[in-house]
Amino acid sequence: MFDKILVAVDRSPATEKAVKYGIDLAKLTGAQALIVHAYPKIPDYLGEPNLSQTISRHLERAEELVNPIVERFQAEGVDAIPEILEGPPADAILRVAKAREADLIVMGARGLGSVASLLLGSVSQKVIAHAECPVFVVHEPKEG
Ligand code: ATP
Ligand code: MG
Repeated sequence: MFDKILVAVDRSPATEKAVKYGIDLAKLTGAQALIVHAYPKIPDYLGEPNLSQTISRHLERAEELVNPIVERFQAEGVDAIPEILEGPPADAILRVAKAREADLIVMGARGLGSVASLLLGSVSQKVIAHAECPVFVVHEPKEG
């Protein structure tokens, strides 16, 4: 049913749930998993060598997040690859989904944003609105 499942990850509790569903769905369908994380665009005005150093730091942090998740998929027998991009997360997710022809996007309803009253964060809202494939949205575990 699915050949490629894109799992969008940040550092939020919802991501942990999205990863669990992503693994189960990929195992059930035999799909490949694309583990996507976007880090913020670094402004050019920083100048060198600060610009390169800052980008390296962001990349390193992104790899620290994404690589263990890729390994969790692989440990479950799922073919998984990391996709680390710079820029606004929703654009990055939509770009990878289109370029790699993902047929499902799995993501959290909320991330680390601070507006607790919102049901959906801006990234999930934008992805749901613009994705060309179905989007599977998981809510973070309830507190208490
Ligand atoms: P906002 O960012 O608008 O303040 P929020 O942080 O609560 O709201 P979102 O950012 O929309 O909520 O997060 C929803 C889901 O989007 C996350 O659970 C995750 O799956 C995905 N996501 C968020 N940020 C990123 C990112 N930088 N890279 C990849 N996926 C992301
Ligand atoms: Mg967010």
